[in-house]
Amino acid sequence: MGQAESCLFCRLAAGRIPSETLYEDDRVKAFKDINPGAPVHFLVIPREHIASVRDLAEHDADLLGHIFDVINAQAKKVGLVPGGYRIVVNYGPDAGQSVPHLHFHVLGGRSLAWPPG
Ligand code: 5GP
Ligand code: ZN
Repeated sequence: MGQAESCLFCRLAAGRIPSETLYEDDRVKAFKDINPGAPVHFLVIPREHIASVRDLAEHDADLLGHIFDVINAQAKKVGLVPGGYRIVVNYGPDAGQSVPHLHFHVLGGRSLAWPPG
């Protein structure tokens, strides 16, 4: 079974698992987190299967720039500017990464504690 079939977020990106989509194009998808940790909590993923932040390389620079453009545009659209928002990428068990397909959490809509738990 290839990643397209076995990976949750590859399946979600392909529309084979339903999600509340905020934005999508040929490279990325932004959708609401199913278990929100804040009044606003959405995820931005590359369509391409990249397992984690540690699997990024120099040639992903354009993709990463695009991901941050999408994050910033969507954060504004859903009302997080000028209040603010937090962008989180978890890697590995200590950080609690539970889905092995790179995803950027965007959280906001309330005052967020720092440091995180
Ligand atoms: P991680 O723990 O890997 O940093 O984040 C994974 C996130 O994906 C969690 O916040 C979890 O709620 C979210 N998630 C897991 N499965 C699904 C799903 O099927 N749909 C959506 N929309 N979010 C999901
Ligand atoms: Zn994947």
